[in-house]
Amino acid sequence: MNSFEHVNVDTVEDAISSLDADWKARIIAGGTDLLGEMKREIISPKRLVNLKTIKDSSYIRYSEEEGLKIGALTTLSDIESSEIVLEKFSLLSQAVSQVGTPQLRNMGTIGGNICQRPRCWYYRNPHYPCLRKGGRRCYAAAGENRYHAILGGGPCFIVHPSDVAPALIALGASLEIANPEGRRVIPMEEFFVGPKIDPYRENILKSNEIITEIRVPSPRENSRGIYFKAMERKAWDFATVSVASQITFDDGIVSSARIVLGGVAPIPCRTPDAEAVVQGKAVDEKTAEQAAEIALANSRPLRDNAYKIELTKALVKRALLNC
Ligand SMILES: Cc1cc2nc3c(=O)[nH]c(=O)nc-3n(C[C@H](O)[C@H](O)[C@H](O)COP(=O)(O)OP(=O)(O)OC[C@H]3O[C@@H](n4cnc5c(N)ncnc54)[C@H](O)[C@@H]3O)c2cc1C
Repeated sequence: MNSFEHVNVDTVEDAISSLDADWKARIIAGGTDLLGEMKREIISPKRLVNLKTIKDSSYIRYSEEEGLKIGALTTLSDIESSEIVLEKFSLLSQAVSQVGTPQLRNMGTIGGNICQRPRCWYYRNPHYPCLRKGGRRCYAAAGENRYHAILGGGPCFIVHPSDVAPALIALGASLEIANPEGRRVIPMEEFFVGPKIDPYRENILKSNEIITEIRVPSPRENSRGIYFKAMERKAWDFATVSVASQITFDDGIVSSARIVLGGVAPIPCRTPDAEAVVQGKAVDEKTAEQAAEIALANSRPLRDNAYKIELTKALVKRALLNC
């Protein structure tokens, strides 16, 4: 690992002025992802800007009018053990509790989880100068691609590894982002960018921008949220595929639905066509099956990952029936 400067900052403004325009300085929160990248020399920042020393950056606040507000430096284990999250935002609670291991959840923050980098083994291997690291090609396209994208891939075929992001999108969350000009709030759905738009980054953040807060509106009455995650090992693993669904019912009929897929595309993938199938209907076997078919209608598997299509369909169907 190269030597680097480590800066503790007291305020968001200090953090932003310690960052730069060309990614030589990097944000560190819990460090569970960033330090892995540095040890493997996938990135070699000259400066780390430690956000954990910013006062009042870790909190969970709730009011009926404003919903849930979570400071970006809040650890996943604090969210997991929050009674208000468990009671009113069950989908988020389910997703957070399935991230990695207890140790990871103790260190990892919600901001870091949303911004974590891909787990693609070519990206993580310093000997492969892949497209995402500025190289000329995606080795997964014709290589070992059993964990890669079946939807929205190309020219790079990573999948987004976060469990938390699909749940937040299904809940209609937004993000507060700070930069040298001030702060803005954007819907989380607009945060991620696919490789066709930018093959080097997974989201819209510039190198001197920071997520400061995650906001989640209160789910409507008679809403149910379900997070299902398929893993190769039964525990402590990234999602092979995952489904987050948040459904609101009116007299047993779906009045609104959000279905978001994880582990299948370079970004968490909302499925408006599948949502439209269940809208205005009671969810039974047949509708759930139709929604699952439509959710995967545009899938384009690579050589080794067609199994993800049936797996995802099964999870979508189960999630809908369980809602
Ligand atoms: C063995 C292992 C298993 C894992 N399993 C899972 C899993 O099952 N599910 C899952 O979802 N995740 C999993 N993870 C990923 C883990 O959840 C993330 O590493 C963690 O949440 C990142 O949080 P952090 O605070 O440590 O982030 P850091 O490592 O400090 O940062 C991660 C990235 O986010 C950026 N960043 C951090 N905070 C901010 C901010 N506020 N604004 C802007 N950018 C920011 C950093 O610059 C860096 O690029 C696993 C990781 C490991 C190592």
